[in-house]
Amino acid sequence: MINVLTLNNVIIGFLNQLIGEEGIRVVTNLPEGEVTDEKIAEITGAEIQTVRRTLYILYESHLAIYRRERNKESGWLTYLWKVDLHEIELVLEVEMRKLSGNLQKRLEFERDNVFYICDEGHRSLFDLATEENFMCLNCGKVLRHQDNGELIDALEERVGEIQAVLG
Ligand SMILES: [Zn+2]
Repeated sequence: MINVLTLNNVIIGFLNQLIGEEGIRVVTNLPEGEVTDEKIAEITGAEIQTVRRTLYILYESHLAIYRRERNKESGWLTYLWKVDLHEIELVLEVEMRKLSGNLQKRLEFERDNVFYICDEGHRSLFDLATEENFMCLNCGKVLRHQDNGELIDALEERVGEIQAVLG
């Protein structure tokens, strides 16, 4: 069984995004060793669909593996699952680096460009706004210069938070 208290808040937040509260409940009540999805459903009291969905997402994220075993008499295949969250910090780090990279790109884009915006909230780059005589391409309303300072501040803050976690 995984002790949820040993997982820090960042990891719990990440797991929550990945598999949701129900998924976390499944994961934190898993029996040791290899186990079938039916058995997990029985033990955790979760719906079989929730269990399968959780296992599949974890598998996709390299946090679970399965082994197929054929019953010699019936010929039926049994899937034996094993959840291993030891790599979760690594998986989380890779995800956060990806996110950080995307945010950095967005930040540079916001810093390097001048934006115009209409009353409906459609944004336009300066060059395009000039070409259209400062009329919105989407709705035809007048475009005004947009101060994106607050957005830049928010992006900087988010990047800073992620960098602080990544260390
Ligand atoms: Zn518009």
